[in-house]
Amino acid sequence: MIDETLTLIPGPTPVHPRVLDGLARPTVSHVAPAFIETFGACLANLRTIAGGGNAQPFVVAGAGTLAMEMALVNFLAPGERLLILSQGYFGDRYSQVAEAFGIPFDLIQSAWGHAVAPEELERALATGSYSVVAMTHVDTSTGTAAPIAAYAELLQGRAELAVVDGVCATAGMEERFDDWGLDVLFTGAQKALGAPPGVAILLASRRALDKRRSLDRVPAFYADLLRWLPIMEDPGKYFSTPAVNEIVALYEATQLALHEGLPARYARHRALARSVRAGLAAVGLEPFTAGDCLADTLSVLRYPPGVDDAAFRAQMARRGVIVAGALGAIAGQATRIGHMGNIGSAEVCRLLQAAEESLRALGRTVPPGSAVAAAAKHLQPLD
Ligand code: PMP
Repeated sequence: MIDETLTLIPGPTPVHPRVLDGLARPTVSHVAPAFIETFGACLANLRTIAGGGNAQPFVVAGAGTLAMEMALVNFLAPGERLLILSQGYFGDRYSQVAEAFGIPFDLIQSAWGHAVAPEELERALATGSYSVVAMTHVDTSTGTAAPIAAYAELLQGRAELAVVDGVCATAGMEERFDDWGLDVLFTGAQKALGAPPGVAILLASRRALDKRRSLDRVPAFYADLLRWLPIMEDPGKYFSTPAVNEIVALYEATQLALHEGLPARYARHRALARSVRAGLAAVGLEPFTAGDCLADTLSVLRYPPGVDDAAFRAQMARRGVIVAGALGAIAGQATRIGHMGNIGSAEVCRLLQAAEESLRALGRTVPPGSAVAAAAKHLQPLD
């Protein structure tokens, strides 16, 4: 049998047939009673997944970058300052959004492969005056998970809003919106939620919405959360046509996540991460990311000397497995492999077997089965 392509990039991730089926159902009116019910249930599920019983979810056609833009333009009055904690390419993107809207900001950047230490946030809060602190749970460029709970703890009882980019983490790594006192958490559909790309997802705390209400105007129309709020409270209302099919698909994806159970889902992501990394380390690909901040959703792995990035990925693609190249200063030196969403041990075994064969095709000595054997103790029974 010829296998289908297995896409193991850090998003979009493989889409479960049940989710694809949601996408393929006939398009209905955005105010059809059944759709209103599904949209409402989807929002409720997102609240549960984020641990945000008190949070207001928003789902708007777009992608993660729209959600990032919404997370800034709705919560800063003109002249108010933003503090950005960045551990890579996507953290730096906050500063590009801020520049586009003339938002004054300070940017604290970690070395790539590390996260900004909570003490650095503490120092910045002591010396600067900020209205919003923006952070990234997992930066997809470096495979680095930031200590979001520790950052959020430092912000407890303070006026700054805590904004978290969960694009490469939400539904794959634990996030507790209410318990951690977050104000905004945003993500896209196409990562650990395992839905097709096409919607921006954002949750806002009451405090964040009060802040939006206190602003007369924000530099947005489609991205203005107050225009969307009535629809998110009652999906029978209209502002701009929702992405009907994609919302049905996202609903199915949230059902899968909740059916699996969040603790089990996080444990599966951790096991997948460990198995991928153990397997690929055995054939010479070591993590670029520091050991104390490895993400469970993707791995950024350095090639051994002599392995060419384009050649390796072409060999993988010949075997039907798509992995990504690295970004920025490490482009060409590392590969980025996504292991999030709705995949399991079978996909990891296929990845590792393809990697063994690809490395052999490139002239390296790799005993057959060595990567899979090294991963085995972390693998869950085949699902
Ligand atoms: N933030 C992070 C952490 C991401 O990984 C990405 C996408 N890779 C984005 C933001 C931007 O999301 P999108 O591509 O959906 O606009």
